[in-house]
Amino acid sequence: MIQRQIDVALGERSYPIYVGTSMTTSFAPTCQQHGVPKRIVIITDTNIAPHYLKPLQQHLRHFQFDVSSIVIPPGERQKSLQRANAIFTELLKSDVGRKSALVALGGGVIGDLVGFVAAAYHRGVTYIQAPTTLLSQVDSSVGGKVAVNHPLGKNMIGAFYQPKFVWIDVDCLRTLPPREIVCGLGEIVKYGVILDAELFAYIETNLDRILQLDNEAVMHVQGRCCEMKAHITSEDERETGIRVILNYGHTVGHALEAAGNFTTVKHGEAVLMGMIAETYIARQMGMVSPEVHERIVALIRRIPLRVRKGSLTLARVLQAMKHDKKTVDGKKRFVLPVRLGEVQVVDTVEPSLINASLRHLFAEKMVTGKR
Ligand code: ADP
Ligand code: ZN
Repeated sequence: MIQRQIDVALGERSYPIYVGTSMTTSFAPTCQQHGVPKRIVIITDTNIAPHYLKPLQQHLRHFQFDVSSIVIPPGERQKSLQRANAIFTELLKSDVGRKSALVALGGGVIGDLVGFVAAAYHRGVTYIQAPTTLLSQVDSSVGGKVAVNHPLGKNMIGAFYQPKFVWIDVDCLRTLPPREIVCGLGEIVKYGVILDAELFAYIETNLDRILQLDNEAVMHVQGRCCEMKAHITSEDERETGIRVILNYGHTVGHALEAAGNFTTVKHGEAVLMGMIAETYIARQMGMVSPEVHERIVALIRRIPLRVRKGSLTLARVLQAMKHDKKTVDGKKRFVLPVRLGEVQVVDTVEPSLINASLRHLFAEKMVTGKR
């Protein structure tokens, strides 16, 4: 049942985000309503397929859709040109034409990869985001950023390509490993800090309910995050302005992910740690009060983060920071908190302070996984 609709306003490319529970029963009618082509290919991974693929296929067939599926292995390594090409081959071999639709049923990996394939296949076919992880439900499935990785950089080959609609079924989260819930919280806390002090306070009060997947609490934070992402996407689809604030925690976060070869540290975990380091920078630069700094760190400390040290050493993170391709005129760009709900973009952070923030982060017990 659809319980909530949030609209992404982008002129003729506008689309809704539907949020609810037991969503399978209304997916096909919603496709019909949006004029989705009869030929549908669901693309998902081997962790998700056993739970959700068959019921969705049967439901769509019941409504006379011509459905097939492509199931790929899980993991960030699938976000590659090779995998995209393998999918192109399969689509071409099965005579999937221009007038077809792809459904991205999965987390951020599936969403980014399938969106990329949809953008390029026949110069663009209809696609639907059906995110199944907390992280993709609150952030990556909305906004139309799609990409695959290149050996020289993450998300380096991609496009802006908006889906027909986003379909968020909260029930999907029940089968999600707890570590992935923590990852989702990384982006949720981020939204609280950058734009919404009320959301931040709500997470402070309701963290345990969210971790236990209480429907009301999860849908509340999801709704707020999607509203903010929808608003920012409408204002600045191609990230030439305001959209950059979504990168709070991400400058250090990307370096942490890279230092762990994109395996030791997951994206959401990296964002949580990145926010600790970047808030420290803001504090040292006198941008944020000690009280707000403390509140942010205290909330993140309550989130059960377990990162194995693995290849994650201070030296490697520093090196990854240096080799980050995402610099602006050679400068590192940071999104730093000023108060809860407000951030500032700064590209004048001294390298020595960046180093100090990483040392500070490594002194936090969470990085060692001993909590
Ligand atoms: P993210 O959305 O954080 O980018 P991924 O796409 O990498 O995450 O998905 C994280 C992991 O969770 C993958 O191994 C994926 O197969 C698995 N997964 C995704 N959704 C579900 C679900 N609803 N139930 C069980 N496992 C899932
Ligand atoms: Zn992110």
